[in-house]
Amino acid sequence: MNSVYIGIGAAAVLWIVFNSYRKQKNRNKVVRIVERNCTGCRRCVKRCNRRVLEAVKEEADMRVVVKHPEQCTACGDCLRICRFGALELVERTGRL
Ligand code: SF4
Ligand code: SF4
Repeated sequence: MNSVYIGIGAAAVLWIVFNSYRKQKNRNKVVRIVERNCTGCRRCVKRCNRRVLEAVKEEADMRVVVKHPEQCTACGDCLRICRFGALELVERTGRL
């Protein structure tokens, strides 16, 4: 029974270490739309709980813009949910 607890504890520690490493690595990054791949499906907008992305209507088409880049934590949730490879993380420039 003790080995089960040790296993769970070790997994929890590894998860924490991995997440803090990922956050550190992505600290200077921000999301960017790859316009040519975006279908305007808005899955990413719904997925981002920091309200970084916004859907805008442009004539007949829907597109997504990075409305609040300063709020992006580069968590990657929107990249994972996009089926079209239309999002990427890039280095922040200037004040962002
Ligand atoms: S999930 Fe991908 S394809 Fe859909 S709106 Fe977002 S970036 Fe565009
Ligand atoms: S990387 Fe995270 S915080 Fe940034 S837009 Fe995507 S889901 Fe939102």
